[in-house]
Amino acid sequence: MSYTVLARKYRPQRFSEVIGQEHVTRTLQNAIAQGRSAHGYIFSGHRGIGKTTVARILAAALNCRSKDHPVPEPCGVCESCVEIRAGNSVDVIEIDAGIDYRLRALTHMSTYHTPTGPTSEAALRRAFEAMASGPDEDVHIAIDGRTIAAKRRAGSVAWFDFAALCAGPRSQRDYLELAQRFAVLLVSGIPRLSAATADQARRFTWLVDILYDHHVKLLASADAAAEELYVDGPNAQDFPRTVSRLIEMRMRDYMALPHATNESPREPTALRA
Ligand SMILES: [Zn+2]
Repeated sequence: MSYTVLARKYRPQRFSEVIGQEHVTRTLQNAIAQGRSAHGYIFSGHRGIGKTTVARILAAALNCRSKDHPVPEPCGVCESCVEIRAGNSVDVIEIDAGIDYRLRALTHMSTYHTPTGPTSEAALRRAFEAMASGPDEDVHIAIDGRTIAAKRRAGSVAWFDFAALCAGPRSQRDYLELAQRFAVLLVSGIPRLSAATADQARRFTWLVDILYDHHVKLLASADAAAEELYVDGPNAQDFPRTVSRLIEMRMRDYMALPHATNESPREPTALRA
C-alpha cells in the first residue's frame, strides 16, 4: 500500500471546501471568473494555514478541462483535475514545503568543514541562511522540560555548538526530539575527542545515529577529518561506523532522502544504552 500523509489525503479539493481563507479563495475565484488571473501568485503565512492546498486548487482551476477556459471551481473529475490530485500532472510540480528545493542546494555545498575557525563558521552561516525558510526564531528550545540553546534557528533548520549538544547531560531522547523537529542541523566546533572526552564521543555517536535514521541533513565544522576525530579512547574501535555514516551523510543520495519523522514510515530507531 502506498503511503499518503493525512494532510494530503484529506486536503480540500475545491475552493468551497477551504475553511478560514475566504478572502483568498474569493479573490482568486473572482479573478478567474473575470479572466484576469495573474501570471504568478505568492502565498505567504504560517505553516498549516492552507498555502499548498489553495495553490493546488488554483492549479486545478486553471487547468480544468470541464470548460475550454479556466473555471472558478475545478470539476474534480476531468483528466487534468484527477492528475493534479494524484500528484502526477506534468504541468503541476509540487515542491513540498520548499525544503526539498532548498536542500538541492546542499548537493552543491560543502557540508563538512575543517578546521574550525572563522572560515568554516562563515561557511556554516551562509549555509544556514540559504536553508532557513523564514526569520530567526527563539534559540531556546525546550525538550523534556529542559532548555537547549541553539546558535540560530529558523523553521526546520537549527544551528548548534557541538558543546551545547554533546558536552552536557544530553540523552538519546533529546536527540530524537531534535531529529523529529529539524530537517537540517548545523553543528559548529566538533573537537578531536579522546579518553578524557569519551562521554562526548558517546553522545556524538548517538547524535549521528539518530540524525542518520531520520535522514536529517547535517552540516558541520570540525577540528579534523571524520576518521581522525576519535581514534583513541573507550569504544574508539566502534567509531569507524560513525565515520562511515558521517561520510554517507554528505552524499547526494542521502541528501535526496526526505526527512523521516514519526509521521512518515521508517525503521524504528533502536535505543542503545
Ligand atoms: Zn476538471
